[in-house]
Amino acid sequence: MPTIFAKIIRGEIPADIVYQDDLVTAFRDIHPMAPTHILIVPNKVIPTVNDLTADDEQIAGRMFIVAKILAEQEGIAESGYRLIVNCNEHGGQEVFHLHMHLLGGRPLGRMLGERSKVSE
Ligand code: 5GP
Repeated sequence: MPTIFAKIIRGEIPADIVYQDDLVTAFRDIHPMAPTHILIVPNKVIPTVNDLTADDEQIAGRMFIVAKILAEQEGIAESGYRLIVNCNEHGGQEVFHLHMHLLGGRPLGRMLGERSKVSE
């Protein structure tokens, strides 16, 4: 079963694509949690961070470089932003096609909100 993101990358379902190259595609999140909320996704299906291998080093690196370029394009490089990669259940991952969230355009608060103690 292709993931929803694989369909977006192939142009089979619409999305606001802001960047695409041979390794990654970036598009705006359908439910933005900040003025800038972009997903940076490998073109190749890698379900989670756990599935990355040494062969994926270039892809993983490209995701960071594209995040940096898009932060500049969005005008949030100086004010700041957050990059998030959720993994599996405790990470809150919903779509099992690796993706990096680029969030910015407003103060984002503490990293984990209220329940941020190690024991919770
Ligand atoms: P996760 O929780 O897996 O880290 O994040 C998945 C993200 O994908 C969510 O922020 C969700 O809003 C976004 N998303 C889910 N389906 C679609 C879609 O069809 N189009 C777009 N643009 N974003 C989606």
